[in-house]
Amino acid sequence: MKIGFFDAKAEEKNYFSAKLIGHELFFTPDSLKKGNALTAKDFDVLSVFIGSLLDRETLAELPNLKSIATRTTGYDHIDVKAAGEKNIPVSFVPSYGDHTVAEFTFGLLLDLTRKIRQCSERVRREDEFTIDGLQGAELYGKTIGVVGTGRIGSNVARIAKALDMKVIAYDVSPNKELAEKIGFDYVTFEGLLANSDVISLHVPYLPSTHHLINKENIGLIKKGAILLNTARGGVVKTEALVAALKQGILSGAGLDVLEEESATKNEGDLMLYNRLSDVEMKIVLQNHLLMEMDNVIITPHNAFNTKEAVKRIMETTAENILAFAAGKPINLVK
Ligand code: NAD
Repeated sequence: MKIGFFDAKAEEKNYFSAKLIGHELFFTPDSLKKGNALTAKDFDVLSVFIGSLLDRETLAELPNLKSIATRTTGYDHIDVKAAGEKNIPVSFVPSYGDHTVAEFTFGLLLDLTRKIRQCSERVRREDEFTIDGLQGAELYGKTIGVVGTGRIGSNVARIAKALDMKVIAYDVSPNKELAEKIGFDYVTFEGLLANSDVISLHVPYLPSTHHLINKENIGLIKKGAILLNTARGGVVKTEALVAALKQGILSGAGLDVLEEESATKNEGDLMLYNRLSDVEMKIVLQNHLLMEMDNVIITPHNAFNTKEAVKRIMETTAENILAFAAGKPINLVK
């Protein structure tokens, strides 16, 4: 089979070249999008990461495509319905970063509560070993609201318990056994917003989670809470987030993901700018406002990125591709 790997890193090239012997492989660091879809028109299988966008229009330009193997857990960058209509199965990596992402979430949180970046900057940039203005706050005894208690959210709840935090949670499919085992209570979404000192988002990006936090409900948040988003940018309406930070509804935010992340990343590309709608352009500008706020930490969708998780991603993706080649596809998105 001809297999095209987009968003590919050097270590992925080495790994897949050794694992997929007998297949014709092509690797590029570029993301696959409508603008360059023609470069992928001969491939039987495409493997992509979050930077690629396989929407209906892009898929229409790929007549030979027989399978997609995304190297991610979330698959909101692929129009699964359009792929299904063309009988193209989409495989994903159901589990690779449960601990990795949960640990990163607490990295963001501890940075916000203990001003670790500012402490380090003080010493490095200002060459000053002083503590004025660097007082933080404890997590001990505070309440964290976990939105989505799946693989990642449940680990966030576990870590929070180990820090002696009170954990409350919201999920469309509550897992009572898990709640009992870890020791947390499910509450309504509104109850979670009103009672959490820290809100941490761990839901997939779906039509039902689009702007789950928005202008209408952000005012329900307990004054001074911290919002953490390591899920997907679109789960939070950026405009509402900026307003909540300015008004002090939120005292801080830790964001590994942004709405219009891809446009923000590639904003040097003027061609891309010409294609952005007014709404998208506004979000990119709001992202810049967030980047300049001292009480906001933004990381470049890096929560997944540990050597252990990347190894698991590569292993599962190779298994997914080999299973498809053997006529017994696994880990399919439903
Ligand atoms: P998961 O499927 O194990 O858990 C998701 C949970 O969300 C489930 O319990 C589900 O019932 C719940 N849920 C779904 N829709 C909901 C809704 N409308 N309201 C409330 N709860 C809802 O997923 P996971 O492995 O824990 O990953 C969660 C998300 O984290 C992924 O979908 C992905 O978008 C994101 N993620 C980000 C990174 C990163 O690097 N930042 C890495 C991996 C995953």
